[in-house]
Amino acid sequence: MDCLFCKIIAGEIPSTRVYEDEKVYAFRDINPMAPVHVLVVPKHHVASADEVNTANSGDVAAIFEAIPKIAAAEGLTNGYRVITNCGEDACQSVHHLHFHILGGKKLPDQMA
Ligand code: 5GP
Ligand code: ZN
Repeated sequence: MDCLFCKIIAGEIPSTRVYEDEKVYAFRDINPMAPVHVLVVPKHHVASADEVNTANSGDVAAIFEAIPKIAAAEGLTNGYRVITNCGEDACQSVHHLHFHILGGKKLPDQMA
């Protein structure tokens, strides 16, 4: 499958890993929008939040169990934002489910 994040997970494209477990891979965004900008993805391909179902929701649970660990390791003691862009109107650019962790500064109040 021609999926950028599947290639990153497979190590075919280099990335800066910050966390990994059986179901989850997390790495630094190549174009950071905040001092800390990490992408957290399921190792098993899921196209977007709109594709979450009973068969793959365990991967999403694993991601949300990993997020506090990643935030702590990144020193995000004063809060952080978790975002997923889903589909055309949200400007999803990579069609492999990913959650952005953004932090390390006071983030804008408004919706991006
Ligand atoms: P989206 O716009 O789909 O929510 O987010 C995709 C994110 O992937 C963007 O923030 C973009 O900077 C990041 N990204 C795109 N290509 C690469 C890459 O090759 N490596 C890494 N580490 N991040 C990437
Ligand atoms: Zn993929």
